[in-house]
Amino acid sequence: MTSVPNVTLSAGNSTVDIPQLGFGVWQVPDEDATAAVTTALEVGYRSIDTARIYENEEGVGRALATTEVPRGEIFLTTKVWNDDQGYDSTLRAFEDSAKRLGQDYVDLYLIHWPTPKKDAYVDTWRALLQLRADGRIRAAGVCNFQQAHLQRLIDETGEAPAVNQVELHPRLQQAQLRAWHGDHGIATEAWSPLAQGAVLEDETIVTVAAHHEKTPAQTILRWHLQLDNIVIPKSVTPERIRENIEIFDFELSDEDMAEFAKLDSGERIGPDPETFVSP
Ligand code: NDP
Repeated sequence: MTSVPNVTLSAGNSTVDIPQLGFGVWQVPDEDATAAVTTALEVGYRSIDTARIYENEEGVGRALATTEVPRGEIFLTTKVWNDDQGYDSTLRAFEDSAKRLGQDYVDLYLIHWPTPKKDAYVDTWRALLQLRADGRIRAAGVCNFQQAHLQRLIDETGEAPAVNQVELHPRLQQAQLRAWHGDHGIATEAWSPLAQGAVLEDETIVTVAAHHEKTPAQTILRWHLQLDNIVIPKSVTPERIRENIEIFDFELSDEDMAEFAKLDSGERIGPDPETFVSP
C-alpha cells in the first residue's frame, strides 16, 4: 500500500502533520460517500476533505466509524459555510458538523469563502482559534482567501491560517499567491487539482504523461507535489481513486515542470473569491 508523505502545518505554538495527498468529496452524494471514503482508506489515503455544504458529512462519518484504520492515523478536514460565519454561529456550526461526522475533534477546520461583503471572516477566524484552544480542532485554516484577506487576519489577530485551500491547477497556477504563502508560513492546498477533468486531454500533459508511462491525472498530481502543494483529488471511481495515489514512484524533470508552467492561462473554474457571497 502506498504511503503518503506529510506536510507540517503551524498550529499556534505547535505543529500538525497533514498528508500531502488527500481525498476530496465535493459532489459525492451522502449515500455514496461512505463507499468512496472506505475505498480511499483501503488504498492508502489518510486525509479526507469534506464541508458542511457538501451534505455528506454523515456519509464520511459512517466510513470513519467502520474502517479498521485507527482515527489517530486519519486527517479529517471540514469547513464552515458562508451563512454560518460570525463568532457564535461558527462555534455552533462546528458542533453540528462534528455531530454529523461522529467526531469529538476535527484535524483541520476551514473558513470556506472569505465573502468580504459580509465582513465576518475575522470574527469567524477568532472562533476557529477558540476551537483550537479548546482542543476541538488541531489546526485552523481558510479557503479562497486572497492576499488582502490573509493580511487582515494577521493584522487583526496576530495569526496566519495554517492552510489556504484555493483553486489551483495547470490553468490557474497561482504563482504569486503561493510565493506569498511561502513567505508567511501558510501551506497551499489545491482544490480542483485536476481542473475537474478539463485538462486531462491537454496535449502537453498527455505527452509528458506518456514519457513517464503514467496517466495525465497522475502526471498533474505529481506536478502539484513538486510545487509543494497539498492536493485533494476527488473520484467516486475505485480504479481512479487507486490511480491517483500511485504518484510517488516517478519524478517530473525541470523541463517537464517548465512545460507545465506554460499552461497557466489564469482561467478559473470556480467563482471569484472577491465577489462570491452565496447563499
Ligand atoms: P478534481 O479536480 O478533483 O476533479 C474531479 C473530477 O475528475 C471528477 O469528475 C472525477 O470523476 C474526475 N477524475 C478524478 N480522477 C480521475 C482520473 N484519474 N482520471 C480521469 N478522471 C478523473 O475536482 P473537485 O472539484 O472535486 O476538487 C477536488 C476537491 O477539492 C473537492 O472534492 C473538494 O473536496 C475540494 N474543493 C474545495 C473547494 C473550496 O472552495 N474549498 C471548491 C471545490 C473543490 P469521477 O468522480 O467520476 O471518477
